[in-house]
Amino acid sequence: MSGKSESIKIEASASMSNLGSGFDILGISVNIVSDEVIVEKRDDKKIIIQDIIPSDFNIPTVVEKNTCGFAVKSLLDNYDIDQGITISIIKKLGIGSGLGSSAASAVAGVCAVNELFSLGLENKDLLNFALEGEQIASKAIHADNVAPCLFGGVVLINNYEPINIIELPFPDNLYFTLIYPDIEIKTSQARSILPKEIRFGDAVFQTGKTAGLIAGFYEKNIEIISESIEDRLAESYRKHLIPYYDEIKNVAFENGATAFNISGSGPTVFAVSDNYATAEKIGQIIQEFLYGKSIGSNSYISKVNPNPPRAIG
Ligand code: ADP
Repeated sequence: MSGKSESIKIEASASMSNLGSGFDILGISVNIVSDEVIVEKRDDKKIIIQDIIPSDFNIPTVVEKNTCGFAVKSLLDNYDIDQGITISIIKKLGIGSGLGSSAASAVAGVCAVNELFSLGLENKDLLNFALEGEQIASKAIHADNVAPCLFGGVVLINNYEPINIIELPFPDNLYFTLIYPDIEIKTSQARSILPKEIRFGDAVFQTGKTAGLIAGFYEKNIEIISESIEDRLAESYRKHLIPYYDEIKNVAFENGATAFNISGSGPTVFAVSDNYATAEKIGQIIQEFLYGKSIGSNSYISKVNPNPPRAIG
């Protein structure tokens, strides 16, 4: 991509954070497009968010209140670039989905600026700017959607101050069925219902499962990964925000899932299996179950997406 281009369009993927036991420290990128961001050079020095499509999500178009706008502005400021830009954001998923849509906007924005101005920055250099943008939505630094969206694959955040990430290997036949019911859960709301303290026994349980999850990824072993997708920090509180959570979880296990949990703070939930046919069946049966309860949903099947965002125009 040459620095002479006047505009660029970047596509960024959805991501699932937590994965059960990896609360706030683990995220994976999935093969579902979350956001497209178009950045165009202007003749003046303004940064403008021109369009957010669809408009009925009521996402702020004020640069400082938008995850993409803020991330892009901090990147431009940091490199003393005073050329103006026009930003357009196409949201392919709903917001408050538990699939990292606010993070995807921020990531796509910084990747677009990097390309458009030929900054030559690596993903690790872009990470902090995208995190600053995501902070607008989550009110705190959270990397568990931003990092997998930016790097692709499975990402462990092993330190927050300063931020440090480790990219993990993963098995090729790890299938996720994602079910996104037609409801919205604000991450901030899902955070506020969590307790301030946890019991010692739960901390020990969680640590064992988190360690198992990391070991399972390194060993590329779906059995160990599945056994380790359990959570005592958030699931029992957040499941009440997701209609029929326990019933859906049972249906998933009855139909061949090897693990099940909440994606991020929900309402998207995911089931794990080791083949496409099982993943597809789980999706169909859960959607039918929800439909029977008058709840619409979308279902996706995805392996881990190994790729960072890409230019599509
Ligand atoms: P998600 O899981 O979809 O990222 P969050 O609840 O974490 O949902 O964030 C959504 C909140 O962030 C909403 O209040 C929304 O208005 C705000 N927001 C600001 N900028 C964006 C953006 N570019 N994309 C999505 N949400 C944004």
